[in-house]
Amino acid sequence: MIKIAVYGKGGIGKSTTTSNLSAALSDAGLKVMQIGCDPKADSTKNLVIGNQIPTVLDQIKEKGRNIKLEDIVLPGYGNTLCVEAGGPTPGIGCAGRGIIAAFEELERLHAYEEFKPDVVLYDVLGDVVCGGFAMPIRGGYADHVFVVTSGEMMSLYAASNISSAIKSFGSRGYAKFEGLILNSRNIENELNIVQKAALEMETNIIKVMPRSGEVQIAEGEKKTVIEALPDSVMAMEYRDLAKRVMEVVNGK
Ligand code: ADP
Ligand code: MG
Repeated sequence: MIKIAVYGKGGIGKSTTTSNLSAALSDAGLKVMQIGCDPKADSTKNLVIGNQIPTVLDQIKEKGRNIKLEDIVLPGYGNTLCVEAGGPTPGIGCAGRGIIAAFEELERLHAYEEFKPDVVLYDVLGDVVCGGFAMPIRGGYADHVFVVTSGEMMSLYAASNISSAIKSFGSRGYAKFEGLILNSRNIENELNIVQKAALEMETNIIKVMPRSGEVQIAEGEKKTVIEALPDSVMAMEYRDLAKRVMEVVNGK
């Protein structure tokens, strides 16, 4: 089981990137479980044609101990499985706690043993890397971490925080920071800016994703680009990303 976390600032394109990655890996014959770790709970929406799947937190609230795996792990596009951790009511409780509760529930129900995914992708909000938001990089959840960033300062700031968090856990044998995915915003000098930042973080850009209107067209159909526009340039880029990610995690 290959366990990957995709981090990044809110709105940078984590869920878009992760769900296209899931779809591409599924098309390549792998069983993929995507776990949304963002209180927005919209990580997997384009894998389930916009259907809001029940969040783990909501199901825990509603069903308590009677919760079943099929209440929280839902089938999506191809051979994908979708989970949304969910979040607390705004103003009450802590978003990170929701992720912890969701992870505990998935383990208690033996989700990984039951479904035996080839790849698990955690899609994690990375604006603050504390508590539950740090869970995927601690305690053996994810082995590999990628960060989605653009050349914008705030997204690089978040990337740098994630890199520092991993380094501080590093000696205890937790997840490995595998590199940046540059999700282009087309700001001036973007590649140079991100290359420089990568150097400072002692990492690499594993792939540059272009900004593309095909993402919005697919989104309009509530699908990934891989599903809606399989012959498009952007679908090819996402398939290439999937290939790169697999090469990197396999040490190539
Ligand atoms: P996050 O999960 O990081 O909060 P999303 O994946 O929801 O961010 O992306 C926010 C919006 O950015 C999406 O609705 C999508 O329309 C847009 N987007 C993401 N990546 C691209 C891209 N490469 N090209 C064009 N639009 C993109
Ligand atoms: Mg998201």
